[in-house]
Order: sequence, then C-alpha cells, then structure tokens
Amino acid sequence: MYAVTDPATGELIEQVGNATDEEVRAAITRAHQGYEAWRRRPVGERAAIVARAAELFAERTDELAAIMTLEMGKRINEGRGEIGVVVDIFRYYAEQGPTLLADEPLAIKGGEALISKEPIGALLGVMPWNFPCYQVARFVAPNLVLGNTIVLKHASICPRSAAAIEDVLRAAGVPDDVYVNVFASSRQIPWMLADPRIAGVSLTGSEQAGISVAAEAGKNLKRSVLELGGSDPLIVLDTDDMDETVKATATARMRNCGQSCNAPKRMIVLGEIYDEFVDRLTKRVAEYYVPGDPADPRTTLPPLASVAAADEVAGQIAKAVEQGATLRAGGRRVGPGAYLEATVLTDVTPAMDAYTEEIFGPVVVVFRAETEQDAIRIANDSPFGLGASVFGTDPLRNQRVARQLEAGMVYLNSAGGSQADLPFGGIKRSGLGRELGPAGIEEFMNKKSIRL
Ligand code: NAP
Repeated sequence: MYAVTDPATGELIEQVGNATDEEVRAAITRAHQGYEAWRRRPVGERAAIVARAAELFAERTDELAAIMTLEMGKRINEGRGEIGVVVDIFRYYAEQGPTLLADEPLAIKGGEALISKEPIGALLGVMPWNFPCYQVARFVAPNLVLGNTIVLKHASICPRSAAAIEDVLRAAGVPDDVYVNVFASSRQIPWMLADPRIAGVSLTGSEQAGISVAAEAGKNLKRSVLELGGSDPLIVLDTDDMDETVKATATARMRNCGQSCNAPKRMIVLGEIYDEFVDRLTKRVAEYYVPGDPADPRTTLPPLASVAAADEVAGQIAKAVEQGATLRAGGRRVGPGAYLEATVLTDVTPAMDAYTEEIFGPVVVVFRAETEQDAIRIANDSPFGLGASVFGTDPLRNQRVARQLEAGMVYLNSAGGSQADLPFGGIKRSGLGRELGPAGIEEFMNKKSIRL
C-alpha cells in the first residue's frame, strides 16, 4: 500500500491505493505505444523538452523539497539541494545529449562503419525513497533524450513525490505515453519484467530488491542497471587540519540522516592520528547533531525515513554493542517519530555483523589501521564496492591508494556527493552499470553497427 506517513511524528497523512494488474498492464501499453513516435522525434526536440523540465524543477524547488520533508523526513535545505542536482542532471543531458548521441565513425579492416546510437524501447524504473527526485532524474533524463519511454514504480512511502515528478514532466511537454507513473507493488514486478513490451529495468535500492529484479531480468533476457547498497570506506592517511577533516567526514556521513548509498560509512584512520580523530569526531557528533523538525532549516538531525527504518538501525547498533563494539556516542531511539541519536561505534571486528552490513542511518563506525596497506585491506574487506574516499595531504599518495580500492568511484579529500557529469555506480554487491555522465546515457542504448 502506498502511504504518506510523517516520520517526524509517525502520523499517517494519506493512503493511496495500489494499481490493479489491469492498470499496470495499461501503463505498459501506453509506454509501449508512445515509443515509436517518441523515438522518431528529432533529438533536438526531445532535448528541448528535457531542458524545459530542468526549468520547471527549478521553479518548483520549494514545493518538491516540502513534499520530501513530509514523506521521508529530509531536512528542508537538503531537499532544496537535491532539486538543484536534479536541475543540473536534466540540463546536462539536454545540453550534452545531442552530442553524446551523434553517430560514431569507425575505421575497420577493409572499409568503414559507423555506430548509430538508438533507443531500445519502454523501460521500467524501480526507485527508492532516500533521494526521491534525484534517483528518478538519473534514470529518466538520459533515457528521455535517447528516445526510450518509461514506466516508473516509485517507493511506496513516496506517492506524492512520484505524482509531482510526473506532473513536472507533463508540464514540460513529455507526452503522457512517454513517462507513466504507476503505483505498482513489488509483487507485480516479475510479470512486468516478463512482458515483452518492457525492454529493460533500472532499480535503485537494496541488495535484496536488486537480486530479485536481476533474477527476473535475467530470466527474461532484459538489460538491467542496479544501483544498490554500499558501505563506503573513507581512509584518513594524515591531515594538517584535524578539525576540518573531522567536520568534512561527519558531514558526509550524516547527510540525508545517514541514508545515502554512497555516504562514507566506515572511517579507516591510521594509527598515529586515530585517538585524536575518534575523540574529536565523537565530540562533534554528540554536540552538533541534535534531533529537530526537518522543516526547520536550523535542524541538524532529522528523523529517519520511517519508524521501521529507525528501529532497524537501532537494532543494528544494539547488536554491535552486544557483540563487543564500543559505543562512543548516541545509540538511542528518540521519539515520537523516527528519530535516532547520531552514533559513533569503534572496536568493530570482522566477527561482528556491523563489520559487513550496510548501516543505513546516522552511524559512524571508525576503524584503526596500522599502515597504508592495512587501511586498503580493511577498506576492501567488504561485500560492497560503491564509492570510497581518501583524505591525505600528499596528492600522489592519495591517488596511489585510490587505485588500489575496490570501488566504482573514489573521491579524494571529499566524500559522497554526486554531480551530473560524473559517472556513478558500483562493483561487487553494490550493483551493475553506471548512471550520470556520458556513461549514463549508454546503458539502455542500441549501439548499432552499420557497415558502410
Ligand atoms: P528497497 O526496499 O530495495 O526499495 C527500493 C525500491 O524497490 C522500492 O520501489 C521498492 O518498492 C522496490 N522493491 C523492494 N523489494 C522489491 C522486490 N523484491 N522486487 C522489486 N522491487 C522491490 O530500498 P530502500 O530501502 O528504498 O532504499 C535503501 C537502499 O537503497 C539502501 O541499500 C541504499 O544503499 C540503496 N541505494 C542505492 C543507491 C545507489 O545509487 N547505489 C542510491 C540510493 C539508495 P516498495 O517501496 O513498494 O517496497
């Protein structure tokens, strides 16, 4: 059941009925029927509509941010920031799309060829609640420019975001058979993927959802992009400004109340500076992050997205402590609503669940490494491989470490974040494929070879 529940209070605001099987099938029919006309429109026309969407997202920033605050507890300023990135993404593909889709000449043995860049059909998007607008933008903007059409199933706690996004796209001129929002349930996804009119699927979400969607996509020989969980390492090699390093790392971890796939979740600090880092980080986390109303711009710690999410993270902390980890700060649920104190854990060992699990909330885990190689070993000792960060004063050393990390993306002296022109995605259990940048328009593309 789709429903809006205010995580700051736990109050149920609205329930939205799920789409029936018939309605879901009708959504697929529409997106399939819309494909032929959409793909035949000149790329410049599609790009102009995507550019108009960027303008409308910008105009409706406050309204969209307020919806996210209500539905999943995002701090209002972070919501405005998220829409800023959405605008950048739509603009990027509107501006770069026509160039990225130009024919590519190829000199081949005995002649010439070209690669024609074409769409593949109607796609299914399955999206999460943590960045309700940004996640959709990453998938939708490049595919609209490319000429694919879209059926979008959003997270069941974000029906208003889902409807507002559809509304913006419609107002920008995206036809109603080119982008179709549907309040489908995850139980309907397998037969949606089996429908021959769906050409591929992009899912952003948990590892479990990724496994089940990838299995169905595989069974039906459909392309899939999977942006899944992460437990990103952040290595601190050395610093000439400990306060700045602590502030930057804490800020990156606590962004979106710790519910970012590519937040640095494991801080790995070299032995010489470990004690000082832990002391200052604990102080910062305990003093700066105070639970408050997410609609108030002064709030530093909003609720998590739901009471269930807050309970789950509190349970992970309790289990870590029971298994021998040291709780340096926080750890308690605060109510009413989905609040959880900002938390610091140390002395987490490989025998504990917290060593390998993704902790999707405001929890920093700090590890001590004896040497640079030891830090790299700990960083890579994870089932995930989304992002990673390296903080240090020597740029060459930072790069040397970056190249040894098992991750889809590495940030030097910064952490997390995302920008329209930088490809985003992971390896290992963090998923398959890339979004954003030039790579993001290629995933559902038919790179057709034409031998001249
Ligand atoms: P989730 O429970 O997997 O939900 C994501 C979407 O998948 C929702 O629309 C959900 O629908 C649907 N879904 C759930 N189970 C499914 C199934 N078995 N088959 C088909 N669809 C299914 O994830 P979440 O809790 O919303 O998001 C948090 C997770 O997403 C974290 O692990 C985070 O790291 C990851 N994430 C990754 C990225 C990235 O780019 N790598 C970005 C953001 C988040 P319902 O809401 O109806 O259940």
